[in-house]
Amino acid sequence: MFRHTKIVATIGPATASQEGIRGLIRAGMNVARMNFSHGDHETHRKVCSWVREESEKEGTPVGVLQDIQGPKLRVGEFLGGAVHLERGSRVRLVPDNVVGTDELIPVVYEPLLTDIEVGDRVVLSDGLLRLTVTDTNQDHLEADVILGGELGDHKGVAFPDSDLTASSLTEQDLADLEFGKELEVDYVGASFVRSGKDVEQVRDLAGGVPVIAKIELAAAYENLDDILEVAAGVMVARGDLGVQLPLERIPLIQNDILSRGNAAGRLTITATEMLESMTSSPRPTRAEVTDVATAVMGGTDAVMLSAETAVGQFPNRTVEVMGRICQAVEDDVLHKPDRRLPFFGARDKKASAVAQAAAETTARLDIDTIVAFTESGNTAFLISKYRPLAKVVAFSPIHATLNRMALYWGVQPFYLDRFDFTDHMIAAGEEFVETEGLAERGDAIVIVAGVPPNQQASTNLVMVQYIGERDQGIDAHLMGALPGEQNDDA
Ligand code: PEP
Repeated sequence: MFRHTKIVATIGPATASQEGIRGLIRAGMNVARMNFSHGDHETHRKVCSWVREESEKEGTPVGVLQDIQGPKLRVGEFLGGAVHLERGSRVRLVPDNVVGTDELIPVVYEPLLTDIEVGDRVVLSDGLLRLTVTDTNQDHLEADVILGGELGDHKGVAFPDSDLTASSLTEQDLADLEFGKELEVDYVGASFVRSGKDVEQVRDLAGGVPVIAKIELAAAYENLDDILEVAAGVMVARGDLGVQLPLERIPLIQNDILSRGNAAGRLTITATEMLESMTSSPRPTRAEVTDVATAVMGGTDAVMLSAETAVGQFPNRTVEVMGRICQAVEDDVLHKPDRRLPFFGARDKKASAVAQAAAETTARLDIDTIVAFTESGNTAFLISKYRPLAKVVAFSPIHATLNRMALYWGVQPFYLDRFDFTDHMIAAGEEFVETEGLAERGDAIVIVAGVPPNQQASTNLVMVQYIGERDQGIDAHLMGALPGEQNDDA
């Protein structure tokens, strides 16, 4: 059975090898995520070329997502590598490069003293420790320890209540984005963005590569509509988001981001700790299975694995298990009448209307296959967003488009040469789906394209066709009524 929801798997020490990547592709990985918070450029270069080689050998387009680190804030270093902060004690925070103690916390953030105000919360070490700022001073902030515990060197620090003014890109990000252009990555994941302007900046520096905005700051969630204007997609980055916003609200926020992302016609990815226990166990917990299922039911385009495939003991098995959970839920989700999205046509109303017509046609006529011809991938993307019951077989002569389409829900990308005439293009597509067993002779399919080909025509054609219809030899009865209907043409 075909899986509609796509799987993004993070490459790390457990899988950063030719065999490791081959294993993940065979297990069902659709997009490889290179996490630029770890690893050097040489390792990422090798990973990217292994993905390209193995994807080619396996005959499966696989996307490459470059996830840049962004301005993740961290504390400095402590005497002995870690200190214990006592609940109820008072500490000083300084923007200086000094060795910290249990009373003095160095924070690597230059505008600390101007950006943070009295009453602002300080969250340390992924939410394990919490402080509240009680006083600001010329050379330090004072804060009360609300939730104490151990604080180690370079642990993360977040200021969920504060308006941070520092740039949303670091020197490292700029170098990484240049490197990403060299590697010709398919997507860039932008960490710690706060607004649409931040996303725009990443997109420009990445040379126009589609940007997935990671929603992991309270400010990003507040500015979601603005971000959705410019981002190609959004990721529910639950790790850092759970530090910024109350954990108990994360499920509601997840659903909200997914439904607003889908309604805006953007890609949606749900990430972090989805099958975390499989990092060291061959079986997921019931709660994790339910978590993956909930994301699929919430309408996510893709689900993401982090530590599970980067450092886990069972990377391939985890991808397979995730795929099975998605499929089990999809069968149910796809048959819910309210799953379809409303018309969205902010940027390309005509293509959007044609895509919606294609999805509707397959539902009304009980057709299993949509064949889309696309240069940019836009046709396939729009159809995917209308969540058709039918699988979308998407043909493109451009490899970068095939790799990008690997992330599109319900889309199976395949290479097909360019044709000068619409008829030849459609005949080649039909022949391909028949020979590859994607549809059988006599099956009805819905064809979507921008015609005439090779003239940058936007999506303008939707057509119902029977496989083999144009062949003289095909039996007339094979062109009979569609399931449940009389054929008017007969
Ligand atoms: C997250 O915070 O959930 C996330 C996906 O980002 P990262 O893995 O880069 O911390």
